[in-house]
Amino acid sequence: MNSLTKMNETVPTIYEQMVSRGVDRRDFLKFCAWMGAYLGLEHSATAQIAHAIETKRRLPVVWMHFQECTCCSESFLRSSHPIVADILLDKVSLDYTETLQAAAGFQSEEILQETITKYKGEYLLLIEGSIPLGADGAYCVIAGKSALDTVREVAAGAKAIIAWGNCASAGCVQAANPNPTQAMPVSAILKDKTVINVQGCPPIAEVMAGVLVHVLTFDRLPQLDSLGRPKAFYSRRVHDTCARRANYDAGLFVETFDDENARQGYCLYKVGCKGPTTYNSCSTMKWNNGTSYPIQSGHGCIGCSEAKFWDNGPFYQRLTNFPGFGIEATADKVGLTVGGVVAAGALTHAVLTNFRKHEEIGEQPGEKATPPTPPSVKP
Ligand code: SF4
Ligand code: SF4
Repeated sequence: MNSLTKMNETVPTIYEQMVSRGVDRRDFLKFCAWMGAYLGLEHSATAQIAHAIETKRRLPVVWMHFQECTCCSESFLRSSHPIVADILLDKVSLDYTETLQAAAGFQSEEILQETITKYKGEYLLLIEGSIPLGADGAYCVIAGKSALDTVREVAAGAKAIIAWGNCASAGCVQAANPNPTQAMPVSAILKDKTVINVQGCPPIAEVMAGVLVHVLTFDRLPQLDSLGRPKAFYSRRVHDTCARRANYDAGLFVETFDDENARQGYCLYKVGCKGPTTYNSCSTMKWNNGTSYPIQSGHGCIGCSEAKFWDNGPFYQRLTNFPGFGIEATADKVGLTVGGVVAAGALTHAVLTNFRKHEEIGEQPGEKATPPTPPSVKP
């Protein structure tokens, strides 16, 4: 009998914990359907998710914080969906997290050692923040150990490793030129392991929950793109399903943030929107319980789910060109071609988008990706 089995004898199932927290059967099933839809799964997967949550018990979780601002934790904790928050606080449960645990100092370090020893091979390792290599790791030291040494030690016995946000996935602002601390993403440190990069600054709470639900339900990693991002949430550009997309196609652009075009809700391409080169679920899942997302609220995408977005040109300067799009080479061209060529352009665009997307996510055209599907059931 392994340690997890021993633990399981004393811990209620996830569903039992949900019921004890007042979640009724209807809300539970809605949550399962909602998660299945966002994971791009067949309708029948709802039953699989429900079965997993009904029968499985909590996984031990170690949540580490290195060079970061804690916005990923904030995003998850502030989710307006009660079950998402419960997954973190009660269902997945945190055995060690510097931000939320009551313990401090030697006591918390003892808990960490106890968790990674007792649950070796069974715990989830969630990491927020980049790892600095400069000055022999002295830029980030916790309990006398560098982040570099700690992450290697804790990753050794982890069942799965999830990098939350752009810091852990790609280095984010700490790694921006000139990268004074030599900040690195987790995957660059743990080269012999698969790291799930849940990108964004921060990631969307429901995307974070979806990745956890996938690991919990299927006991394996989700399909990842060539950058380690779960395909279910990162295989479409923000631009592809943007609420302002019709204006882009019609050549209607905001010229300055306070002009009449801005009031009309026109496309933000000319004021720097990076949606055409950014892969994320913002325009389908949205934020704050599906209320809105930055572009819908009037600000262009800054590309926060892409590596090096701080160095990829000024936020408020238009993308001068992006490869693979004749008609989309510049916004001005789009405006000029509006009219007779729109239909042909749309078709060309769809084909090129598809090919470029496959190229960027490391697939061959025709191979199945799993785009996010708007759910039929809202939480
Ligand atoms: S350029 Fe930006 S605002 Fe315009 S359609 Fe694309 S994503 Fe939306
Ligand atoms: S719209 Fe762009 S910058 Fe804003 S959260 Fe989404 S991916 Fe990040």
